Amino acid sequence: MEKSRVILLPCEDYEEEKVYNLMKEGLDLLGGISRLIGKEEKILLKPNLLKKAEIEKAVITHPVVVGAFARILREEGYENIVLADSCGNGTTKKVIKGTGMDAYLEKYGIEAIDFSEGVHVEYPEGKQAKEFVMPKELLEADCVISLSKMKTHALERITGAVKNSYGFVYGRNKAIGHTKYPSADSFARMLIDLNQYVKPRLYVMDGIVAMEGNGPGAGDPVPMKVMLMSTDPVALDSVFARLVHLKPQLVPTNYHGEKMGLGNSDEANIQVLLPDGCEMSVEDAVMEYGNPYFNVDRTEIRHNIWTRMAKALNIFQKKPYIDGEKCIRCGICVRSCPVPEKAVDFRNGKENPPVYDYKKCIRCFCCQEMCPEKAIKVK
Ligand code: SF4
Ligand code: SF4
Repeated sequence: MEKSRVILLPCEDYEEEKVYNLMKEGLDLLGGISRLIGKEEKILLKPNLLKKAEIEKAVITHPVVVGAFARILREEGYENIVLADSCGNGTTKKVIKGTGMDAYLEKYGIEAIDFSEGVHVEYPEGKQAKEFVMPKELLEADCVISLSKMKTHALERITGAVKNSYGFVYGRNKAIGHTKYPSADSFARMLIDLNQYVKPRLYVMDGIVAMEGNGPGAGDPVPMKVMLMSTDPVALDSVFARLVHLKPQLVPTNYHGEKMGLGNSDEANIQVLLPDGCEMSVEDAVMEYGNPYFNVDRTEIRHNIWTRMAKALNIFQKKPYIDGEKCIRCGICVRSCPVPEKAVDFRNGKENPPVYDYKKCIRCFCCQEMCPEKAIKVK
């Protein structure tokens, strides 16, 4: 079996020239950008733009990383480039406004677009998802580049290369997707189908400052001091998992990603390369660049009669809860809840924090992702 190449670029901070030079070296190690993208192709850059947030909070892909990639494309003579995401809250233009990403895009003549229309596409080959509603502008692109952020995730433990592709689903259909694929496993399998349908040409991950804890929207920034690059999103996410001392197979997108043929999770099939082209074992990479204290869910899954019963009875499951002291009663969690009859609502009046009906809750954690005040946690 051919090994998947993951480029590990150690990077202390977001110094512009440093990030740009490292990224160039990384692309060379993958065979050069011209091998990956044709000159005439229409390119769509897809950063993680979950919601509007200060850059220091590590919610979205850092503008310097996006800027460096944009600069390389421009210098290599690529012309037809746009940037977009199906944001969790807000639109591409609103989320990037004032972050510095907008300034880079202007500097390099790249348009940030708001997806305008959803198009229904059939995918009979899909093992979990046989159809998607995708933005028209995504379907018009020839080549998609994923620029993800290294973060934790309440449902999938981590969000990285594979999960970043959920922004290829148009608008409200993302919320509907959570009700169609409510478990971590079914959701992960849908994500694998989605990646196999869209086939991003390259996956880049910004882990210079990552997010740990209550991610992907309300965790804590933590320096991981790396960027990762690969054409294999499962290998990339597996290296990410290893760096944070999480068994890759505990991440549903890795487990199913390997089984469904999206990429390699087994480190015997992953080649880690440093900027000088030297190969490093995954184990050595973990020793040198890993963080054993990274706050991520490392709970082992037990499959037995008791865990199956607990799941069926909806007991001992992870659940979101609201810290009433932090809640500002904005209602974003209620609007984000994809369950039609709302599993979180202002049942006690709008002068009080919303309350959960755990019988209705499908544990998608959209409410926790979107809360602007970090008032929702998972226990
Ligand atoms: S989103 Fe957060 S702050 Fe807003 S109402 Fe819900 S819990 Fe409160
Ligand atoms: S209450 Fe939160 S976790 Fe439960 S279904 Fe609604 S958005 Fe998902």
